[in-house]
Amino acid sequence: MIHQALSFLLDFIYPQMCCNCGKLGRYLCKNCQFLVELHFFPLKPTADSALDSVHVAFQMTPPISDLIHQTKYKSVIGIARELGKLLYLHTEYPDADLVTCVPSAQQKQRLRGFNQAKEMAMTFSVYSQIPYQDVLLKKHSTTNQASLSTKADRLQNTQTYTLLPRAKLPETILLIDDVYTTGTTLNSCAEILKKNGAKTVHSLVVAHGK
Ligand SMILES: [Zn+2]
Repeated sequence: MIHQALSFLLDFIYPQMCCNCGKLGRYLCKNCQFLVELHFFPLKPTADSALDSVHVAFQMTPPISDLIHQTKYKSVIGIARELGKLLYLHTEYPDADLVTCVPSAQQKQRLRGFNQAKEMAMTFSVYSQIPYQDVLLKKHSTTNQASLSTKADRLQNTQTYTLLPRAKLPETILLIDDVYTTGTTLNSCAEILKKNGAKTVHSLVVAHGK
């Protein structure tokens, strides 16, 4: 609540500007929305993946890459919400009973003030009318995924997700995250969801990272 009030105040003091052309009004103006490069085809999950599908909305090129960078490193909550709206507007997303997100480490969330994947997923939920719920938790801080070079290291590092107490899972879940790199994080989350009753786990991400 405090954060929402603060975000409103910040919008008032620092009005929203298009990250691409600087026009006042929105984080991505209507004209610059035409510059986003769509990622047309779903990625094929590996045979051993717990994910049933991986839908990527955009290519990691400007202005999408700029928006992702700003929400991550400049902590602008409004940009995360703008990305959630763009996800809804530009993707052929699969139907689901519930939308949730990849949780972030509590330490990181405290530092940034919010979890950008959650803001995206909650905004997506408002537009798509698929209910949102927090169901996963990330235990303790771990090493940053991007700093690990081997798949085995990344796998071990991501085995830190757990189901929130009393979370009841429906049959089909749509898991949202900002960037897809190796898919290890999404897969770990999908494994937990399936171990706890979900039958189908689709994923929807903003862009494909390197
Ligand atoms: Zn613009």
